[in-house]
Amino acid sequence: MDVSGFYKLSIEERLKRIKEFAKLNDDEVDILKNTGALSFNIADRMIENVVGAVHLPLGIATNFKINGKEYIIPMAIEEPSVVAAACKAAKFTLPEGFFAEADESVMIGQLQIVNPKRGALERLTEKKINLLEAAKKYTEGLEKYGGGVKDVSFREMRTKRGKMLIVEFDVNVADAMGANTINTLIENIAPYVVEITGGEHRLKILTNLAVKRKVRAEAEWRNEVIGMDAVEKILDGYEMAANDVYRCTTHNKGIMNGIDAVAVATGQDWRAIEAGAHAYASLGGYKPLTRFEKTKNGIKGRIELPLAVGTVGGAVNSVPTAKIALKILGVKSAKELAMVMACVGLANNFAALYALATTGIQAGHMKLHARNIAILAGASSPEEIDAVAREMNEKKDYSVDFAKSVLEKIRR
Ligand code: NAD
Repeated sequence: MDVSGFYKLSIEERLKRIKEFAKLNDDEVDILKNTGALSFNIADRMIENVVGAVHLPLGIATNFKINGKEYIIPMAIEEPSVVAAACKAAKFTLPEGFFAEADESVMIGQLQIVNPKRGALERLTEKKINLLEAAKKYTEGLEKYGGGVKDVSFREMRTKRGKMLIVEFDVNVADAMGANTINTLIENIAPYVVEITGGEHRLKILTNLAVKRKVRAEAEWRNEVIGMDAVEKILDGYEMAANDVYRCTTHNKGIMNGIDAVAVATGQDWRAIEAGAHAYASLGGYKPLTRFEKTKNGIKGRIELPLAVGTVGGAVNSVPTAKIALKILGVKSAKELAMVMACVGLANNFAALYALATTGIQAGHMKLHARNIAILAGASSPEEIDAVAREMNEKKDYSVDFAKSVLEKIRR
């Protein structure tokens, strides 16, 4: 394919080239053209070389009561069972529901100085007030939202490429995720820092390990709701995650199933969330992001992780469904959004542990997945998909071959 100047082409022209290259038929090109709520014009201004948009199902998690408030939670995800699991685990926490709290939205921006002059660290410490004053100029816009620069700290790093200084600004980014806000500050302040330290500035960017922006949530699942023996079984399962990194990875993946689904629905930078969550889990050795303990009445689950999320900025303002998802969710601030996401993560984790430690997840999962297999086997109308899935569930045969044979039978 001739890719020269691909980015300069109109969308029609890009599609024409892709069609020729991949030998797409007209129906396939029409599918690419159907960008849904995200018009081609918006998509084309969001990223480069756009030829379509990807669609995911948007589901609603019900039964969530957090700090006494009821929520309807949009989740965008392709994996069956995640939404159902969140609803089920949340229902089991009622009438109390979840309790959550979040730190202020403090993000950390990092500035790297290489080859600093002798005494640079001392001079930085002396000039701390001046540095903070200078930084304020670039974050004044945040003050009306309750944000702004909070602190600056310095440390020396000895590396195989010599001594480096790392200057870190703490900034309260209020209701934004904050990456652009932080990066702008760090790039602008860098020359002034070099005036103080000598040497040269190199990397200027936030860290996605947002340890000053953590969220915590907890809930209790009572014996009479989940069954007396479930508690011990769940604790056995949890203990495996706490002691085995292979299990722990999947344990944390189950948490992120819920968190990512809300993140995608509400237009968050889910890569930032993922990076931060796993890095946080690995401080001091990779560990579960949740903890479970036996209580008088049942079992209590707790979650803690950093969540850099926003109700303004980033894709939140450009993706129409993200705006609607936030409206459905009804959160008033980034902190409230983070609390909701942490509760969903905890709910999904509990649901997975409960199912894994008792009945196993395949029964429920495959029931939902049967519809995907029916589609894979060629079922196209909703009636066909449901009929094939029903028979697969009855016979407990989830192979594509079986689905094909059922489909043939129906069509005959
Ligand atoms: P943004 O650049 O859209 O900035 C947020 C803007 O919203 C600010 O200009 C602020 O003045 C305004 N605002 C209005 N009301 C506000 C309120 N109540 N609280 C705070 N600000 C308010 O968004 P951002 O959050 O700075 O940056 C997020 C984007 O940066 C995401 O798209 C992300 O993907 C991207 N990004 C991420 C990384 C990373 O994670 N490593 C790096 C670069 C860029």
